[in-house]
Amino acid sequence: MAHTQSLNIVIFGPPGSGKGTQSQKLLDKFQLKHISTGDLLRAERAAKTELGKQANEFISQGELVPDEVVIGMVRNFMLNHSDSEGFIFDGFPRTVNQAIALDSMLDENNTKITCVLGLDVGEHELVSRLLLRGRSSGRIDDQDENTIRTRFKEYQTKTLPLQDFYQNQGKYYSIQGAGDLSTIFHSLCASVNNARK
Ligand code: UDP
Ligand code: MG
Repeated sequence: MAHTQSLNIVIFGPPGSGKGTQSQKLLDKFQLKHISTGDLLRAERAAKTELGKQANEFISQGELVPDEVVIGMVRNFMLNHSDSEGFIFDGFPRTVNQAIALDSMLDENNTKITCVLGLDVGEHELVSRLLLRGRSSGRIDDQDENTIRTRFKEYQTKTLPLQDFYQNQGKYYSIQGAGDLSTIFHSLCASVNNARK
C-alpha cells in the first residue's frame, strides 16, 4: 500500500441497507480488498475459535462486539493484505473509537479514507429485508424481530454518530439505498469519482 492515491472506501448504513451486496459490485469495478468484520466474526465462530465463541455472545443478542476485538481483526487483515491498492470497509467502523483507530492504522500506512458511502433506507424496508434474508441465510440474528430491533438501537446510539464524524471531514456521501440495485451502484460510483478528484 503506502500510496496516498490508494482508494479506501467505507460503506456505511444500518443492518440490511445493502452494504455487502454493493461491496461486491464495487469489488468487480475497483481492485480493492473487502473487509467485512461481520463475515470475519462469523468465520471465527464457524472455526470455533475462542474469539468466535466470545463474539457469538454479542452477535446472537444483536449487540456490538467490543471495539478492541474488531479493531484487532481489522489490523491483522490489513497487515496480511499490505500489498493491496486499497480496501472496502464493510460494517466497520461501527463506533467513533473504531473510526479513530482506523484513521491511525491508515495513517501508519501513509494513506487515508477516500470517502464514506452511506446507504439510506427506511426502517420498515430494512426489517422486511432482514427477515427475508433470515429465511435463506440461516443467520439467527436476522430471524428474530427483537434481535433486529436491538441491532437498530445499537446502530442508532453507537454507529450513527459516525455520520457527523465523517461529515465534518467532508467525506460523507448519502446515497438513496432503496430501489434498483444498479441505480444505487451508479450513485455509489459517482460519489467515489467525486471524492477522488
Ligand atoms: N458485528 C460487530 N462488529 C462488527 C461487525 C459485526 O459487533 O464490526 C456483530 C454485531 O453483533 C452485528 C452482527 O455482527 O449485529 C452482524 O454484523 P453484519 O455487519 O454482518 O450485519 P449487517 O449489520 O450488515 O446486517
Ligand atoms: Mg453485511
